[in-house]
Amino acid sequence: MFKALVLNQADGNTTADIRQLETSDLPAGEVLVNIAYSSLNYKDGLAVTGTGKIIRSFPMVPGIDFAGTVAESASERFQPGDHVILTGWGVGEQHWGGYAQQARVKADWLVAMPAGLDARKAMIIGTAGFTAMLCVMALEEAGVKPESGKVLVTGAAGGVGSVAVLLLAQRGYHVVAVTGRPESHAFLTNLGAKEFISRETMSQPARPLETQRWAGAVDVVGGDILARVIAEMNYGGAVAACGLANSFKLNTTVMPFILRNVSLRGVDSVSCPLERRTRAWECLAAELPESAYHDIGQTIALEAVPQAAQDIVAGRIQGRVLVDLSQ
Ligand code: NDP
Repeated sequence: MFKALVLNQADGNTTADIRQLETSDLPAGEVLVNIAYSSLNYKDGLAVTGTGKIIRSFPMVPGIDFAGTVAESASERFQPGDHVILTGWGVGEQHWGGYAQQARVKADWLVAMPAGLDARKAMIIGTAGFTAMLCVMALEEAGVKPESGKVLVTGAAGGVGSVAVLLLAQRGYHVVAVTGRPESHAFLTNLGAKEFISRETMSQPARPLETQRWAGAVDVVGGDILARVIAEMNYGGAVAACGLANSFKLNTTVMPFILRNVSLRGVDSVSCPLERRTRAWECLAAELPESAYHDIGQTIALEAVPQAAQDIVAGRIQGRVLVDLSQ
């Protein structure tokens, strides 16, 4: 028997309860993993609270990422005892996920734990940190370099944003953070942010072309803020857009693209191919300083997930939340 958070639906509302399950309850897959840690991401918040239509079939064990140890494997890629990471692939959405002490998944979905990381560190990074790394890679592939100019990170105090601030600062960028929470300035300064802009300022409607300010930008919020970011990009600048914490809409014009050579790069972590995934995890393992794991993360038990899910949807979470499945 093992413990899991199980979502069900009653009268159109999502319920979340801790249940005891058996290994035989788990869905089909080649690899059985004993999970040590999962994490809380914005999408988990939407799923657990039922705010977004993330989950369409119930009962469902949510949790879009996890790290742990292989217990059984029908795949040649993994042996019992191997340490592994999973993010994305619809796990915790269509396939039972990480808010449980065990999961059974496809071997192709798993990444071998890179040297320098363990399950705890991997889930402090989690889907949010992995996505932040993919955003940094997207900017650099578009030609953005530390000497190109200042880079902007929106939703900076959240999971993706805080790791993006840290990664960019570690690579030598001058990072400007957009946050709606002035009380997060000390946290973000500690991660490497050099300047701040309020969420309110960045939410002001933008003209098609504004004064050029940014060589690169990581946007996790979408909506009017992303529209302003695009209008403020330098000639040849690039924006990595990965989120919709403000809105999934984007009301902009083609002017920055056709007159300033700006590029808008979409970033998806869910179906990211294995080779790129592995590279991103190796960069995370190599680049994040030891202090990051203390500065960015807070740890909660499985029982605390429903409340934390409400908090992340309401924008009350700072940094990353680690879910400890050992108890
Ligand atoms: P968090 O809730 O941890 O961070 C989001 C941050 O956005 C908040 O901390 C807040 O930052 C800011 N924010 C929240 N609400 C609003 C609002 N209404 N208007 C403007 N800013 C707002 O979430 P994550 O970091 O886990 O995820 C961020 C986004 O990225 C989500 O939309 C998520 O779905 C998406 N995402 C996408 C992935 C992909 O594969 N494309 C993978 C992972 C995440 P502050 O307090 O600093 O203002």
